[in-house]
Amino acid sequence: MSAEKKLTQLSEVGEFGLIKLLSNKITIENKSTLKGIGDDAAVLDFSGKQVVVSTDLLVENVHFDLAYVPLKHLGYKSIVVNLSDIYAMNAKPTQVTISIAMSSRFPVEAVEELYEGMRLACKRYGVDIVGGDTSSSIKGLIISVTALGEVEKGKAVYRNGAKLNDILCVTGDVGAAYMGLQLLEREKQVFKTDPNMQPELENYEYLIERQLKPEPRNDAITFFAENGILPTSMIDISDGLSSEILHICEESNVGCRVYEDKIPLDPDTDRFARELNIDPSIAALNGGEDYELLFTISPFDYEKIRNNPVFSAIGHITDIERGTFLVARDESEIPLEAQGWRHN
Ligand code: ADP
Ligand code: MG
Repeated sequence: MSAEKKLTQLSEVGEFGLIKLLSNKITIENKSTLKGIGDDAAVLDFSGKQVVVSTDLLVENVHFDLAYVPLKHLGYKSIVVNLSDIYAMNAKPTQVTISIAMSSRFPVEAVEELYEGMRLACKRYGVDIVGGDTSSSIKGLIISVTALGEVEKGKAVYRNGAKLNDILCVTGDVGAAYMGLQLLEREKQVFKTDPNMQPELENYEYLIERQLKPEPRNDAITFFAENGILPTSMIDISDGLSSEILHICEESNVGCRVYEDKIPLDPDTDRFARELNIDPSIAALNGGEDYELLFTISPFDYEKIRNNPVFSAIGHITDIERGTFLVARDESEIPLEAQGWRHN
């Protein structure tokens, strides 16, 4: 980098200056937001709707690595992971608050970059930034986002409503974000050994995008609303398909059969997993960070989604006594584990 603009130290603008800088570009879209940034607290009015709240904490070098995550992407993703939790309740996200702590190693421009990604995600999903907190940290960057959303009374979908014979479904495809992470990690190691090497990320743009810039499944929630569908249970896939299936089964006191050959994989996920000698099904079941929705639906409602390419039926709900199993391609039954499954 030569002749670049001089970067601004955080100490030059101070906490209030920084808040002003960040909040200047924020606009309000939801009528439920009566008062946003600028007072001691935001004021919201949900006029009779139920309010859904979810928080996530992201810590540098625990949840993200700035060696290969651009700040704008990090901002975008830190919003998306929270919106995904709100959608997983069958709710519509409406507001977020954003708290950040960062060390003096981050110039003002870095924080603005982070916020640009955050604003972009909020705009895309029609969400207002209504407050937050700003602090310095001794080391590294810490981001906490709280998302609020609204849902009509009786329409919130929990993890505990799955019933015998319900169909287990998933949106989109799974395992790609995990394979994207493997790719980025591999290139980071290559870069460490030879800084002159250019990363080889071509041909796998989809995997990289799934890792760096995931999108939440608001389309599924809209489809449910427009077609009078109420899933019996739902969860978003942050820790991995297998572990989320077990959450639903545990909370609902049921068992399940999940069919390996029904798990939706993108061809790139399959190809890159094989290249690394990883079983693609393991990547899909254990991978995590897909931010797809996993849900159960009554066989009657299933008719309404079966022809929609967004959704894949991957199994069904059984009595709890029958356990939680993956039916492998060779028809053997393998117990699902929080970290995927083990071959016998
Ligand atoms: P307080 O002293 O009450 O914590 P602050 O000076 O921290 O107030 O914040 C002033 C206003 O700016 C508040 O409305 C707060 O919600 C908002 N705010 C502070 N930090 C952020 C941030 N990182 N993102 C969005 N809003 C923020
Ligand atoms: Mg404050």
